[in-house]
Amino acid sequence: MNPLLHFNGLPHFDQVRPEHVTPAIEQLLGESRALLEKLENENSPPTWDNFVGPMDDAEERLSRAWSQVSHMNAVVNTPELREAYNANLTTLTAFYAELAQNEVLYSRYKLLKAGSDFQAWKQPRKKIVENELRDFRLGGAELPADKKVRFKAIQEELSKLSSRFEENVMDSTDAFALVIDDSSRLTGIPEDALQAAREAAEKDHQSGWKFTLHFPSYMPVLQYADDRKLREQMYYAYATRASEFGKPELDNTSLIRQILQLRLEAAQLLGYDDYAQLSLATKMAEAPTQVMTFLRDLGLRARPFAKRDLAELREAAIKLGLADLQAWDVAYVSEKLREQRYAFSDHEVKQYFPEQQVLHGLFRVISTLYGVSVRKTHAAVWHEDVGFYEIIDAEENLVGQFYLDLYARDKKRGGAWMDEAITRRRKAHGIETPVAFLTCNFSAPVGGKPALFTHDEVITLFHEFGHGLHHLLTRVEEYGVSGIKGVEWDAVELPSQFMENFCWEWDVLQHMTKHVDTGAHLPRALYDKMVAAKNFQAGMQVVRQIEFSLFDMRLHCEFDPHGTKAALDLLNEVRQEVAVIFPPAYNRFPNNFTHIFAGGYAAGYYSYKWAEVLSADAYSLFEENGVLSETTGRRFWDEILAQGGSRSAMESFVAFRGREPTMDALLRHNGMVEEKT
Ligand SMILES: [Zn+2]
Repeated sequence: MNPLLHFNGLPHFDQVRPEHVTPAIEQLLGESRALLEKLENENSPPTWDNFVGPMDDAEERLSRAWSQVSHMNAVVNTPELREAYNANLTTLTAFYAELAQNEVLYSRYKLLKAGSDFQAWKQPRKKIVENELRDFRLGGAELPADKKVRFKAIQEELSKLSSRFEENVMDSTDAFALVIDDSSRLTGIPEDALQAAREAAEKDHQSGWKFTLHFPSYMPVLQYADDRKLREQMYYAYATRASEFGKPELDNTSLIRQILQLRLEAAQLLGYDDYAQLSLATKMAEAPTQVMTFLRDLGLRARPFAKRDLAELREAAIKLGLADLQAWDVAYVSEKLREQRYAFSDHEVKQYFPEQQVLHGLFRVISTLYGVSVRKTHAAVWHEDVGFYEIIDAEENLVGQFYLDLYARDKKRGGAWMDEAITRRRKAHGIETPVAFLTCNFSAPVGGKPALFTHDEVITLFHEFGHGLHHLLTRVEEYGVSGIKGVEWDAVELPSQFMENFCWEWDVLQHMTKHVDTGAHLPRALYDKMVAAKNFQAGMQVVRQIEFSLFDMRLHCEFDPHGTKAALDLLNEVRQEVAVIFPPAYNRFPNNFTHIFAGGYAAGYYSYKWAEVLSADAYSLFEENGVLSETTGRRFWDEILAQGGSRSAMESFVAFRGREPTMDALLRHNGMVEEKT
């Protein structure tokens, strides 16, 4: 039997092959089409059980099979899988585009809303029907026939272009490698990074050290290599990925324009002025101007701190003989300045964070706050490095399970993310428990030692785990608003950024650290230095996030298909307004900005900062009540994590915090409060 068509229990990742994809998707689409036809021709009035329930069943099967395919395409990519993925992505996009335009189904949802059952329903069902009505409208169900055809064609084209954008970034990242034979060029680079580079070269039967653009290989060179030319060479390769400076077939420049053009056309078909307005129709923020005002306000507050950060960086650069501070010097000088000012290095800290201890510390936080325990167990996986875990409640009930794929490797998309494998819902036989994919790109173990994580990597792990808990700890039983489903995009980062805070707590770190050689916990003196350095360059980091966010929002407000202004020109304009650091002219950041051109962040990158207001303010209640307070933890679970998308993010926030959010905690956490004398 086709392993993608098993719906009892966990996915069969050990059996899934590219040739399974098309038959499975064809069969499931056939079933879905047959069901829709039956529902369209139904004579009796729609009810939850004869209409929404069966639709959810079909949708669940389809998305469960597809999530396995798209996950494997992202983490164990092969040419055969990529081909099968893209072919079926096109079919699926067409199917969903058609579904969203189906007037008969749309009118059935309207009947449900107007019907006598509706008022008696609990909140999740009401919310699902309201979301559906909105999504039919945004899917083009109200368009005249000719415009429906065009709208659908646009969606299909956009999904192809986004997939190609992502592939080009992946391929141009993998295409570059620099093998260095002369060890004198490697001074400054830490031993573990060198060892990883040597092992990478050996794997290719080469002598010397092989460096790539994967983060665990790239970053140590930029941070530590004394050889300025080497840093520049790596920086150039990184900053020009998927641009006209590389292979023409991997150049994303024209894709950017095509994507923006099609998004604008789709938005205008629906009656919006621009794509930004369409994007915000499903978000917490009400209008692009509101978002831009928020970003500019935060930018103004951060700017003095960013300028101070830069002045200090320039001063340190001069002392290092780098009076003409360049983009490829920034990480290097920053690291030197941090070492000198706070007397520790990332590398030193890393020795205290071996993988198993980090996981132990993370699981302890979760079990303290929520009274659940996490255990390692077994499941079929897609790569030998992947771990599988289950979350159990105090009564020994299974709450959820997750896969953990931590290390960077070739043919794996960069970055870190959480994805849904199975969504919690009530079924005839009882509750289907949720399953999550947690994916990172950290340094793999080298030299026979356990994997060691930088503190930044630990923070990333906590972040993704926050998304994971949002998906896994939901108590919603209806598919459409369970876990992160139905949560406004600009509130989705609340649980994830919230989790990051724990990486700075002494109590948490005591249980999360164990020196790889001596077994010692993190010493207090080193911890104090880390805390002192926590907001090192926070001003520069905040203005950088604002630069990306404002660029994204303005790009989707102002794009003119008849104009000649390139995305890069707009980015430069935004930088003039908010940035303090300006990269070299060849930098092609937009060409690998996958968040907005291949992810879901189009006119939504601001969500990180927007949700940080919520996450910082939520965490401030823990600061008031004790950071590992069980009662506050249970309340966070009840009012935020458990609720999923069953009510608006603002309602959940107010229920947890007792009031609407304020920006105070965010400014305080970033050290951006003027000291009172
Ligand atoms: Zn996130």
